[in-house]
Amino acid sequence: MAACAAVAVGLAAFAVGHAATETAALIKVRMGGDSSETRLVIDLDGATSAKVVSDGAVDRRVVVMLPNVIAGQTQQGSGKGIVRAWMLDQVQGGARLQLDLAGDAKLKRRFLLPPADGVANYRYVIDVAASPPGAVLTSTTAASVAAPTAPIRTQFLPAKKPALPLKKVVVIDAGHGGRDVGASGTSGYEKDVNLAAALTLADQLGRTGRYKVVLTRTSDVYVPLEDRVRVAQRAGADLFISLHSDSAPETNLKGASVYTLSDKASQRAAKFVSRDDWFMKASLTGDQGVRDILFDLTQRATRNRSAVFAQTLVSSIEGKAPMLRRSHRDAGFMVLLAPDVPAVLLEMGFVNNPEDEARLRDPAARVRLMRAVTGAIDIHFGEQMKLASR
Ligand SMILES: [Zn+2]
Repeated sequence: MAACAAVAVGLAAFAVGHAATETAALIKVRMGGDSSETRLVIDLDGATSAKVVSDGAVDRRVVVMLPNVIAGQTQQGSGKGIVRAWMLDQVQGGARLQLDLAGDAKLKRRFLLPPADGVANYRYVIDVAASPPGAVLTSTTAASVAAPTAPIRTQFLPAKKPALPLKKVVVIDAGHGGRDVGASGTSGYEKDVNLAAALTLADQLGRTGRYKVVLTRTSDVYVPLEDRVRVAQRAGADLFISLHSDSAPETNLKGASVYTLSDKASQRAAKFVSRDDWFMKASLTGDQGVRDILFDLTQRATRNRSAVFAQTLVSSIEGKAPMLRRSHRDAGFMVLLAPDVPAVLLEMGFVNNPEDEARLRDPAARVRLMRAVTGAIDIHFGEQMKLASR
């Protein structure tokens, strides 16, 4: 344990040393152009450099990271020309610009303009250009398809109504699965009630039309913890919610509780580790994967956002389902350790308490509880939108 803690401290110091870049605050985002080329201008009070994550060629989505830019609350709006909608939000690692493209197009050029020509601030300029017809054909198809039979591409249509904002990505993680059964109740395993709840929540969120939902598992399969974290990171998750059911030595304990990552995750994990194997033991191994995860423990901003959502979730469940007395707790759950994804773990109740178990297995009660979770997610992202549109 001691050796591993030292590794974590070393990595934290490294991170601080590299975070000294000057920041640039967002002033505004402007757009112009037509369906052949659209220009987006980000006005900033300082210089920046950007990293292209996705140029739009694959999935009509441009993603650009601006590492030192402070965007504040999520900004978004309708696009112009080829850009259907845009969003600029603060994620771990800086501001993230996402463009939803209206047709086949890709990022053409990007550059920084320093204050000049009567403009007092820096401008980061991004040009997106429509791909010429046939440009996306692979070389093999291009060779075999003669010009007259080339596919006719859909024309860009001018946006008549305001574009839909880009959807927030919610990753739902059903705890345990397969050979990892989780806690045992009298009529079954934790893994099954977790999955049922995850599918219910996915359905409810999907129906709102406001979220892109990604599940870490959709059937009774074993998924390693690290893979679940990776799923969240790859999906570009805006929120990660892990669903579990508790068990306790005493069968009189009941109610739901919400966990976020603790500042002192390792110490707490050691205390709780025997209760649920999902509590991380920080001294697990010394390999690269775990070192990276320990490094991630330093991401305070993510933890703060997790805590804010946890409080919203607790308030939303209160009155709709029984809760433990201190319902928002923190702990070193391994699955909460993605560095850049606000994450909470909901213990929906105790499978070894008869009342809780009956509730966890009752479809109507499950729908009610997941409706409270959906409500909390709506509130969470709704607040961000409200602030952004001021
Ligand atoms: Zn569990």
